[in-house]
Amino acid sequence: MTLSSVSRYEREQVTTVGDHAVVIGASVAGLLAARVLSDGFERVTVVERDSLSDDSTPRKGVPQSKHPHALLEAGRATIEDLFPGYCEELLSEGGVLIDGASDVEFYDEGGFLADGPERVPQYIATRPLIEYVARRRLTEFDGVTLRPECQCVEYRTDGDATAVTGIRVRDSKDEATTIPADLVVDATGRTSRTPTWLDEHGYGKPPVEEVQVDVRYSTVALRRPPDERRAVFAPASPPQTRGGVALPVEGDRWLVTLHGIHGDNPPTDMSGVRDFAAGLPTAEFRDLLETHPTAADEVAQYPFPSSRRHHYEELDRFPDGFLVLGDAIASFNPIYGQGMSVAALEALVLHHALAADGQTGLATRFFERAESVIDDAWLLAVGADFQFSATDGQKPRGSGLFNRYLSRLTRKAHTDGVLRDALYRVIMMEVPPTSLLRPEIAWRVLKPT
Ligand SMILES: Cc1cc2nc3c(=O)[nH]c(=O)nc-3n(C[C@H](O)[C@H](O)[C@H](O)COP(=O)(O)OP(=O)(O)OC[C@H]3O[C@@H](n4cnc5c(N)ncnc54)[C@H](O)[C@@H]3O)c2cc1C
Repeated sequence: MTLSSVSRYEREQVTTVGDHAVVIGASVAGLLAARVLSDGFERVTVVERDSLSDDSTPRKGVPQSKHPHALLEAGRATIEDLFPGYCEELLSEGGVLIDGASDVEFYDEGGFLADGPERVPQYIATRPLIEYVARRRLTEFDGVTLRPECQCVEYRTDGDATAVTGIRVRDSKDEATTIPADLVVDATGRTSRTPTWLDEHGYGKPPVEEVQVDVRYSTVALRRPPDERRAVFAPASPPQTRGGVALPVEGDRWLVTLHGIHGDNPPTDMSGVRDFAAGLPTAEFRDLLETHPTAADEVAQYPFPSSRRHHYEELDRFPDGFLVLGDAIASFNPIYGQGMSVAALEALVLHHALAADGQTGLATRFFERAESVIDDAWLLAVGADFQFSATDGQKPRGSGLFNRYLSRLTRKAHTDGVLRDALYRVIMMEVPPTSLLRPEIAWRVLKPT
């Protein structure tokens, strides 16, 4: 499921369905879920273990926030619907508007893709700024409370654990309290403890799918001339185990990330990063690193061993008054930048689930639809990882054939802007991967050269 296949947000569709909802985790998934819940609950409390500053500083609980975060069209459009004026606010805080059709130098399959024929506006900012502006907007909603430095330590249940009735939290003074709730949403990210908790309470663990890809990211910030707004995207693709991303962000900087897959690890020091960049299939990254001074000394690292997905939709039973969302359900190799947009589409799915039937059977209805959001993203990101023979795990169905088709499409897109546009809109999660099989696209891909 992508932006084109889910109805847009409509505030009036949701009536009050409960008194109090609690969201655990004030990162992107938690903030967007809280926004949607504020339409159906009198009060929404978001608890976050980190302290939250009044600016866009990276924080400990979201270690990936030092790395470039592309906001895809599916995420952008959904966040804009939930917080009208969001994109303008991002720009007024220093975010950068680029044209994805011509400002993004997209290198894959041995060449740069041709510019696309239509403009593709893309709003670029650091991950902390994307989150900060959403957080600021959320707190403007009546009934919404953010509780930073407040760690959830336990779920509370009714006597036979058929329903979650609240959470137990510890604050910065180590004082414990219980927060009762009609609905508890786990948005604690990849390290969510819900699968273990479900197992301990007789529900069993949701089946887990894990694909080992062993990718590492090293990111540096470079000074950027204010009128330069080009971005570079070059995912690793066999036989090359190295790739990179450069995004123009606020503060007249580029964030440049180099990644290496299956043990080809990018170094953690600046001179090592420059040497590593020289081994990339395109010179763009080496040139950027050689011709622009660094904006900070740090080389941020992020090891990402595997894409992981919990199939909550396959559980026979699930407690009432409880949901899981965002990276806590599925986290992908981030090379295609899908996580925030998947979280946004899941928030939209939650909105429609509340509108359709309130809290009745909410978890079952939500997980079923969230599954199809994840399916499309999973096919693209995890499917692409299977181009490498060392990738280990369950191949998404149809990914072998799809990868071969995609590879041919990408090579044809070196000279065909229409194909770049079609591919880019899939990457932006505007339309599903199957849209690349439309006859007008397929004949461009399959016709002999
Ligand atoms: C290197 C890297 C690059 C990425 N690049 C992109 C990109 O380009 N585009 C994109 O869309 N996505 C990207 N992602 C994915 C993106 O970061 C996530 O999908 C996105 O942050 C949504 O995650 P989340 O909100 O579910 O969880 P997280 O961001 O992990 O947040 C979980 C939150 O829960 C809090 N928390 C955890 N436990 C508790 C507790 N017990 N009590 C209270 N609070 C708690 C944490 O402090 C944190 O704030 C990238 C990821 C990585 C690793």
